[in-house]
Amino acid sequence: MDIKTKELVNKGIMLPLMEEFYTIQGEGAHTGTSAYFIRVGGCDVGCHWCDVKESWDAKLHPPTLSDEIVNNAKQYAKTIVITGGEPLMWNMQYLTASLQKEGLQTHIETSGAYELSGQWNWICLSPKKTKLPLDQIYHEAHELKMIIHNKNDFEFAEQEAAKVSDHCGLYLQPEWSKKEMITPMIVEYVMKNPKWKISLQTHKYLNIP
Ligand code: SF4
Repeated sequence: MDIKTKELVNKGIMLPLMEEFYTIQGEGAHTGTSAYFIRVGGCDVGCHWCDVKESWDAKLHPPTLSDEIVNNAKQYAKTIVITGGEPLMWNMQYLTASLQKEGLQTHIETSGAYELSGQWNWICLSPKKTKLPLDQIYHEAHELKMIIHNKNDFEFAEQEAAKVSDHCGLYLQPEWSKKEMITPMIVEYVMKNPKWKISLQTHKYLNIP
């Protein structure tokens, strides 16, 4: 990357765009609603079950003008979900301010492992054991989405739930490759601990992106 491009990326005027698509939000609090997804490349959190490992290496995803991303997004939806990769590895201020200026709702899906930047209407925090969230984001999160891969993850979910605000929604989501084993455990857990709700990856059941 040349110096000029690097400078633009540092300011968030360009971002390493992996893909963008209009679909239905499959997970969490906004399940079932239409949204335009912007997937930004780059992630070093290293979840072994990650289903977008091709996002990890930011160098594989071309720096793209944020203005261009906004122009595409505004043609499709009122809600724009920024995901990754780990979007907070990048400066999100320019992109989110531009989206909001167009009257669009900005949602983020993040592990919280990097400093929070940007203007958000909805923050979905999904902490990972391999790289815990920074303290700041727990108070800002609207939704805590914990991925359950094995039974020890329930304990981790409770530890993280103790750090978010009272108005943050709590969701347990089975890791896709283990869903047959984990989903019944989550059902039982939620009935015993009703502060939690179940989140399923409904887009995968619907066979949409
Ligand atoms: Fe994959 Fe997300 Fe974990 Fe990064 S934080 S490794 S993108 S699941």
